[in-house]
Amino acid sequence: MIDIDGVLFDLDGVLWRRYHVSPGAAAVVAALRRESYTLGVITNTSARSGNFICRRLRSQHLPFRREEITTSSDVAAYHITVTHGGTIPVVCIGKYGSMRRSLSASGLNTISVRGDVPRVPLVVCAGYAERLERAEAAGILRIAPDVIALYATERDLWFGAADGPEPGAAWVVAAIEELLGRPATTLGKPNPLAVSVACKRLGLSPSRTIIVGDSLDSDVACAAAAGALSCLLRDERTRRGATRGEYEPNFEINNLKSLIKLIL
Ligand SMILES: [Mg+2]
Repeated sequence: MIDIDGVLFDLDGVLWRRYHVSPGAAAVVAALRRESYTLGVITNTSARSGNFICRRLRSQHLPFRREEITTSSDVAAYHITVTHGGTIPVVCIGKYGSMRRSLSASGLNTISVRGDVPRVPLVVCAGYAERLERAEAAGILRIAPDVIALYATERDLWFGAADGPEPGAAWVVAAIEELLGRPATTLGKPNPLAVSVACKRLGLSPSRTIIVGDSLDSDVACAAAAGALSCLLRDERTRRGATRGEYEPNFEINNLKSLIKLIL
């Protein structure tokens, strides 16, 4: 038994793969809820909105409320508002416009790099994309003199998908750094800010929380930086990605159901 109040689950490779809930996930969540643990989801995805994730989890018997889900777009919205105020233009680069919608829903003034970008100080927020087109690269070059900060919702090298690791946002962020000639600040995991924002929303203290993830570089590193405990879900399909990290998890499991024995 571990002395904690709450559990933050990583999404891709832990609670689900390609939107299909992992075996045992519903049983684990139900068992922890019965024992009154505070539960949340902490995900670096910016390609899907918190509302979409919430609906999709609920439809597969994982009853999470929207406020229990913290995406890297939620973390970015919080940080940009606190640091730059709510009126600074935010140029969003990512798939499906999900990140842009999330930032707009938080009251931020978001714009597309393909549109008419005003010649005023602005920030750029980059996230997961499957392609970066030449027109976007040209737009990024044009706005470069006005960019006062470059943020990445995440820059994971990979994420755990259905058949193994798939490329995360790292290569997109690296391309935008080249185009702007400045480094990006990553706001999602492993930045401990992600845990702070998630814990604040849930009324948890990071030191009384365990993060369950499948990535040493993202989940385990983030937990260590935030002063939370970590549990690595080891999986043969993502093993090659997971071994890149230099961080040691507090606990390791080979399947999600083992979490019940570990925590209860
Ligand atoms: Mg993961």
